[in-house]
Amino acid sequence: MSKSSVNQVLLREQIHVGADLPAWLAQGGGAGLARALQQPEAIIATIAAADLRGMGGAGFATHRKWSAAAAASGPDKTIVCNGNEDEPGTFKDRFLLEHTPHQVIEGALIAALAIGANQVVLYINPHEPRALAAVGAALQQWRGHALLAQIEQRLGGPVSLAVLPSSGLYVGGEETAVIASVEGGFPFPRRKPPYPAEQGVHGRPTVVNNTETLAHVPGILRHGADWYRGLGLGAASGTKLYSLSGDVLRPGLYELPMGTPLEELVFGHGGGMLQGKEFKAVFTGGPSNTLLTQRDLDVALDFDSLRERRSRLGTGAMIVVSEGTSIVRKVAEYVEFFAQGSCGQCPPCKGGTFQLTRLLNRIDTGRGVAADLESLENLCRILPGSGRCGLIDGAVTVVESSLHRFRDEYEALLGR
Ligand code: NAD
Repeated sequence: MSKSSVNQVLLREQIHVGADLPAWLAQGGGAGLARALQQPEAIIATIAAADLRGMGGAGFATHRKWSAAAAASGPDKTIVCNGNEDEPGTFKDRFLLEHTPHQVIEGALIAALAIGANQVVLYINPHEPRALAAVGAALQQWRGHALLAQIEQRLGGPVSLAVLPSSGLYVGGEETAVIASVEGGFPFPRRKPPYPAEQGVHGRPTVVNNTETLAHVPGILRHGADWYRGLGLGAASGTKLYSLSGDVLRPGLYELPMGTPLEELVFGHGGGMLQGKEFKAVFTGGPSNTLLTQRDLDVALDFDSLRERRSRLGTGAMIVVSEGTSIVRKVAEYVEFFAQGSCGQCPPCKGGTFQLTRLLNRIDTGRGVAADLESLENLCRILPGSGRCGLIDGAVTVVESSLHRFRDEYEALLGR
């Protein structure tokens, strides 16, 4: 694991106490929850002032989701911590769940207090058995603990804590698929709206938050919104976990100020390119976003700055590729991953990802003709928005972006 001297609130080694609740409390854990218990009605305003965003990829304002769920009256609201993490190149949530599960659970309990939820579910990818075991052991320690009793007193009834192994399928991380799983069904996504915060588990308001998002919450409550905002660079707020992989000297998980420039991540913290290699591109956010190239090295890695470049931060995964790497081959591999991950409910997604993969493989292996390139472009025009969830859109984005930035590579492979 690579280290950084930057102010770390998630990767600070002292808080990596695993399932040991007394050790977590001794490190200052529980202080955020204690503050939240003093003034539950101020929690959402604090999260809003901190500008906490959804770290699962979308960067949606966390307080808006919480407010929507809090606004509904009645019982049986749920908080789900989404720990399905299966996006290629993303390896942050499993680290938090394994090493600092109480930070995540405390964040989920503060969320429960904010929206009035009496169910907390930790939904964990079973392909990460150490994370699953740590969360199971950690949750056990909260049951019957005085802090949980205080939450129950505030909410006027018992709060159930459950760990739920997910199906381990890629699509199972999509939030409406998460809800289907919690209800005991196959993780088929459904269309939104209604958003889960309005109608989720058994039709009741449900907040599905990414693991990293929840891990930030105790610190914000403990130290305040200004402290959190001050951790970011420029207009960006807080810190971010970046999963850096590919052709760099020091791949690893980095916690850096939100808004750290791409160049600093790759060439500073990541140590630059592997010997003798030239930088070529970065597949961002899990490879379902727009490719970044040399001219984007100055971009600040935060949700808004990347949106301005018509890309997205996504999960903060940065897969770096060097000159000599075939972009067409990489894109074919990622789109094949999406094709295998499609749940099959929506024919355009099932068939579209299959067709994209077939065309990309033909071109990559030198069997493609100009008409194949045209077919790729046509599919990129007609497929977006045709699925219940964003899977097909992600597959199209990476194809379209690679065609835009590396069209010459596609053309060079045609008709050989
Ligand atoms: P989205 O934009 O549809 O929604 C983002 C969040 O905001 C959701 O929780 C949604 O319910 C909520 N929301 C939006 N409008 C709302 C409203 N009006 N009221 C209440 N809540 C509202 O995005 P998404 O499909 O949930 O996620 C897409 C992202 O997921 C992509 O950026 C992709 O990078 C990422 N992703 C992550 C992984 C992973 O392993 N972490 C895997 C695949 C994709």
